[in-house]
Amino acid sequence: MKMNRDIELIKDSASVELMIKARELRESGVDIIGLAGGEPYFDTPEPIKERAIYELLKGNTHYAVGKGILPLRQKIAQKLYKDNGIAVSADEIIVTPGAKMAIYLAVRACINEGDEVLIPTPSWVSYTEIVRASSGVPVEVPLNPEDNYTIMAEVLEKYVTSKTKMLILCSPNNPTGRMISEKEIQEIIRFVKGKDIVILSDEIYEKISYIGNNVSPASYQQLKDCTLTVNGFSKAYAMTGWRLGYIAGPAKYINTMNKLYTHTITGTPPFVQEAAVVALDCEDEVEMMQREYQRRRDFFVHALNEIPGVQALVPEGAFYAWCHFDMQGDIAQILLENARVIGVPGKAYGSGYEQFVRFSFANEMKDLEEAVRRIRFEIKNSSKV
Ligand code: PMP
Ligand code: GLU
Repeated sequence: MKMNRDIELIKDSASVELMIKARELRESGVDIIGLAGGEPYFDTPEPIKERAIYELLKGNTHYAVGKGILPLRQKIAQKLYKDNGIAVSADEIIVTPGAKMAIYLAVRACINEGDEVLIPTPSWVSYTEIVRASSGVPVEVPLNPEDNYTIMAEVLEKYVTSKTKMLILCSPNNPTGRMISEKEIQEIIRFVKGKDIVILSDEIYEKISYIGNNVSPASYQQLKDCTLTVNGFSKAYAMTGWRLGYIAGPAKYINTMNKLYTHTITGTPPFVQEAAVVALDCEDEVEMMQREYQRRRDFFVHALNEIPGVQALVPEGAFYAWCHFDMQGDIAQILLENARVIGVPGKAYGSGYEQFVRFSFANEMKDLEEAVRRIRFEIKNSSKV
């Protein structure tokens, strides 16, 4: 049978595949350090778990039909207003099984066959494939490392055609850790003016910032009517396995997405949603994890930069070290085979990044220390050859 052509052609998720690989190697007894998956090593904070258990024991296990339980959507609306300056009603929010699904719903609801989506790169591995799976055309907009990957209107302009429909932004960025500045927002405002383009702003790493608050495009008067904001619980609250995210934006987009939602998702687990209401009050726990990420960033990025031939960008947010290696070949594969350290190859984040590897530092300090030791040893050895 002929399968769906678009889906058949999409690439596997490099980050997910390498997380699976790390698990398999570990299970078969290989001493591997898995820094490929962006996953907090912290456990979900106790009050969140307690609430889920309470709800389960109470029997809150039935369908929670609709966009999400009202108390959660109201709380998210308050959070978006307080933290991000985004004004939306509870009706303009859909709670999804993970932020990934929120992105998928948005792309599916906005894109017709052949429509183009601008994706500044380096960018997270799933945007291009979600667009492809939706019969759209991802258009990579390579940002300049020399310019610290700054988004500029004139660069975006070069890639616009009559088919351009969407621009995907991610701040703090996966994989670079760059955060969008006020100046870049002004560039984006200039760029979208007079165009029929929707912005998808992925802010899932918002709480993991080392330079202050993240700037949300939807908080700007000029952008609020054309911006969909995605966020979720995986990273900020160490809830990756709970699968909960959300999308917020103008009703016309949300209501179209909701049609697809009712036929595919129905609703997310009610006990998970109740626990997420509690999560939004866990500010102390979030702050503690944030301090720990900062400690890891300061150690890991500095230590990598001490290795001759390695240049790691100091991230402003998120928990990734985006490293350039003065080396040829499949660097991530070499490190996996020889150093037993798994990172994601730079080419997964766009063309032209073959000399980069992304490492997650959301890991135990002792693993980061050992990873640095192994990478240093491997680089030293390979330069002798
Ligand atoms: N956006 C980005 C940039 C990510 O790195 C991830 C990683 N999981 C997601 C979205 C999806 O998060 P989740 O589905 O776990 O909420
Ligand atoms: N988002 C994380 C990452 O980039 C987890 C894996 C994935 O969803 O891609 O590593």
